[in-house]
Amino acid sequence: MQQLDYLTKLLGFQGFYVKDMEIERKDDIERVILELWRAKGGKYICSPCGNELLDKHSSWIQEVRHLHLWRYLTILRFEKVKVRCPRCGVKVESLEFLEKSKRITKELSHQVSELCKVMTIEDVATFEHLHWETVKDIDKKAIEKAQTERNLEGISVLGVDEISVGRGHNYWHLISSLDGPYGPEMLHVGEGRKEEDLKPFWRWFGKQRARMVTHGVMDMAKGFINSFRTHCPSIKIIYDKFHVMRHLLNALNDVRKAEFKRAGKKMKGLLCGKKFILLKRMNNLKGDARKALKELLGVNHRIYKAHLLKESFGQLWSYTYKGAARRFWENWKEQLKWQRLEPYKKFANMIDRHIDGILGYCDNKVSLGYIEGTNLKARNIIRKAYGYRDKHYMKLKIIQGCSSIGVFRPYPYPLHHNPG
Ligand SMILES: [Zn+2]
Repeated sequence: MQQLDYLTKLLGFQGFYVKDMEIERKDDIERVILELWRAKGGKYICSPCGNELLDKHSSWIQEVRHLHLWRYLTILRFEKVKVRCPRCGVKVESLEFLEKSKRITKELSHQVSELCKVMTIEDVATFEHLHWETVKDIDKKAIEKAQTERNLEGISVLGVDEISVGRGHNYWHLISSLDGPYGPEMLHVGEGRKEEDLKPFWRWFGKQRARMVTHGVMDMAKGFINSFRTHCPSIKIIYDKFHVMRHLLNALNDVRKAEFKRAGKKMKGLLCGKKFILLKRMNNLKGDARKALKELLGVNHRIYKAHLLKESFGQLWSYTYKGAARRFWENWKEQLKWQRLEPYKKFANMIDRHIDGILGYCDNKVSLGYIEGTNLKARNIIRKAYGYRDKHYMKLKIIQGCSSIGVFRPYPYPLHHNPG
């Protein structure tokens, strides 16, 4: 074999061979340029219709980036062709190894999108000597593609949650499957939290699949409940611990605020800056924080009572039998009597209205910790992506970061893998 034949073999592009190779230095970086020629008798493919044509209409020399060859940045130089297609007119040919509308090969594009699963786009851009917008574009398209090709078979439990994005009251909803083919994972991120805001999700998820959903895990918010009831006729709704506790913590914080308002100077000092230690679980507090909490609970009876009830409420989820859970709940409510804890009374009324859905966990032990975990993860992704104006991209990054489509894979890929 001739030396260039080795390169042709290593490159492995059908219909092309390496005619020449040169090494040049530019901006202090060594690059290898492989000049590719077409094998004789090859046909040109019309890009819109796939028609195979013998003759070219016109041509020019194109350079594209490929995977690094040893320590060299690698550039492929070849003749790119326009064809005169009887169906489409004069069109650019389609080449299998090229990433659409980018000056890079599919292999390189694939490596870039893989790296974007674990690195920031700026880091990938630096590493690969590409513009960050190119990298972002590649990553976005790759996630979009993965998202359309997802396996959604066998999903029967969906969870929905919300996060606030940016300043002000701007909410996004996060929809996860809790029992999909790859375990719990995020399916969709959309703007808003009203009933109609979830429509794009249902369109993507499909009518047939929605019919198979038996359980929905969510907060006691009308928009989500109505949307799920409309699209999943046989659904049972479960209000999970994470969401219910969030309402209780809000109530506790309201008690704290009310007490602060009526407090004298000394009490105000004790209450000041205690929100965090008051809302946190007592068992997770150590040292000074624990001491400060005990001091506060020792001097304010109403806060003491509210805190005690908050700490005990989680027990509601420890029962296997609904009857026992219901008794616990009645007992908990009893303790509100004569306490003048208005925010807690409101909370109790809300729980009463939704108690069947809260005790629904007894029938279906879905992995409830998952929703809380992804909420945190989503927040982190948004924080890291701060500065990207592209909301669609940010949503895709959240989905990727919380699902099987974001699993980082080894390189090189197995032989049966077909990039692009
Ligand atoms: Zn054509």
